[in-house]
Amino acid sequence: MTEYHCDYLFTGSHLFTAQGGEEQIILNAAIAVKDQTIVWLGKQTSIPEDYKNPSKAVYELDSGWITPGLIDCHSHLVYGGNRSNEFRKRLEGESYEAIAHQGGGILSTVKATREASEGSLLLSAARRLETLLNEGVTTVEIKSGYGLNLETEMKMLSVARQLGKNFPVDVRTTLLAAHALPPEYKDNSDVYIDHICDVILPAVNDANLADAVDGFCENIGFTAKQIEKVFKKAKSLNLPLKLHAEQLSNQNGAALAASYQALSADHLEYLDEAGVKAMAKSNTVAVLLPGAFYFLQETKLPPIDLLRKYKVPMAIATDCNPGSSPCNSLLLMLNMACTQFKLTTEEALMAVTKHSAQALGLQDTHGQLKVGMQADFVHWSIDEPEDLAYYFGDNPCRLVIKKGQPLI
Ligand SMILES: [Zn+2]
Repeated sequence: MTEYHCDYLFTGSHLFTAQGGEEQIILNAAIAVKDQTIVWLGKQTSIPEDYKNPSKAVYELDSGWITPGLIDCHSHLVYGGNRSNEFRKRLEGESYEAIAHQGGGILSTVKATREASEGSLLLSAARRLETLLNEGVTTVEIKSGYGLNLETEMKMLSVARQLGKNFPVDVRTTLLAAHALPPEYKDNSDVYIDHICDVILPAVNDANLADAVDGFCENIGFTAKQIEKVFKKAKSLNLPLKLHAEQLSNQNGAALAASYQALSADHLEYLDEAGVKAMAKSNTVAVLLPGAFYFLQETKLPPIDLLRKYKVPMAIATDCNPGSSPCNSLLLMLNMACTQFKLTTEEALMAVTKHSAQALGLQDTHGQLKVGMQADFVHWSIDEPEDLAYYFGDNPCRLVIKKGQPLI
């Protein structure tokens, strides 16, 4: 009986590995995959004999590039209803804060999400997820945060877990109960924070529904002191942390997140140098969300030069949500991170592969083409890797390999 050393062999393409350094680009390359793992990659002219005869198939790709599967590390893609009516209001001159104060904003999505059945949430989220997957996304983070009570937060997280079972994608779930103050706790934000710590967090953890815990540290969200309470509780349950920080003002949220070794601090338009230094020290990823910046028509840019200076890893995500970033395209975010935030094209590519994996704590298994990594990668019909950031409104995705399986 023949002993096979790989299931599939992919030849005839160039590689953008996202490893950085000398291994970043391999021209005229091949990749061998066994089970769910990359077992060999290198020049096509030096394929070891063992890998030339895979048990299932050889894919002779006609030029183009292979990159790691893209990772959308910040999304709210499970939600009820939409907020196009608020888009209209904002165009007529009302601010995001003013709309939030009128009971619009996040709370209108909370109402719609509480009323939605699990089935209808699954259906609407599936459509958004499919759009992402068609563009080469193989891992996505999905937050709760439109329930703001135990029942609906768990409903959202269950839907997110279900999406991971129904589609060829790794879903990482994040509990975002500290997203906004629910109407039943009006003027009682400390009591709601206690409810999160005493009831919601332990129950969600017992049900194994969350891979991380997040919060919204902002004037229209929660204070740093309140967030710290949630962080302490999450830490005691061994749940990794993330934070929406410095989006609309500087609350020193990123420094707080860093002091708790958070995986990431996200948004960061108002981040200052002290916050950047703190993030560098704790190796906390800066997740940049150009879709929200664009859609809210913000003008204050995140401090990209400082993030570079202190070598804070930068990731990019869609922030897919109905209020501030109704966006289902990670490729578009690549382009916008370059045009708006002035990332280099290489920084942008690393920001949706290696660094977005790190923002989810998946850096040992995801986000790079490397022997031993999970075999998630994408073949693109492009001439150079930077074409992925250059074009917008284009989808050159030709073939996705998820956990070693070509998706055809
Ligand atoms: Zn968000």
